[in-house]
Amino acid sequence: MCPEPDKPEVAFIGRSNVGKSSLINALLKSKDAAKISGTPGKTQVINHFLIENSWYMVDLPGYGYARVSQTERVKWEKMVKNYLANRRSLVYLMVLIDSRIPPQKSDLEFVHYAGKNGIPFVLVFTKADKQSVAKTKSTIQEFSDKLLETWEELPPIITTSARSGLGRDEVLDVIALGLESFDAQKG
Ligand code: GDP
Repeated sequence: MCPEPDKPEVAFIGRSNVGKSSLINALLKSKDAAKISGTPGKTQVINHFLIENSWYMVDLPGYGYARVSQTERVKWEKMVKNYLANRRSLVYLMVLIDSRIPPQKSDLEFVHYAGKNGIPFVLVFTKADKQSVAKTKSTIQEFSDKLLETWEELPPIITTSARSGLGRDEVLDVIALGLESFDAQKG
């Protein structure tokens, strides 16, 4: 169950092991946060964290688990896509991509889904401290080129490291913009 959609929220998603928990923790550092809900289920939970009593950070269950059964996959699809399609308080979706590896099918598929469905999202490349700046840039370029095979424009892209704090302010700035747009809509 999700809380009432009376506050703006920003959701995070990515393949398992992409560094989602680490990034969320890095973003929440020094913020007053409380975990307030979860949908029961074995591996699939939508967690809402109430931040400074004004917005929600939402931890969505990941995709691309190698050993997940077809049934689990279908359940994931239904829950996450239902959330993304209907959650009117969602102001941004952060799609996390591992900056060390070449474009993965599950990432590309998910990003195409988000684009097609008009979900406002940002590509957040993770773990940039693990390699040279040049290597990170080339992974991002490769991913962008894949998208540009079918898209005319790229979504916003942020390079991050939960370890070094790279990109933290940039992500927080994007979140702040999203929260402002929600407040403006509410008038
Ligand atoms: P999740 O499964 O997406 O929530 O991923 P985790 O946050 O648990 O991270 C998976 C692994 O990657 C862990 O071993 C983390 O320590 C490591 N990791 C996550 N973010 C970073 C990062 O920015 N830099 C480095 N070097 N390692 C990271």
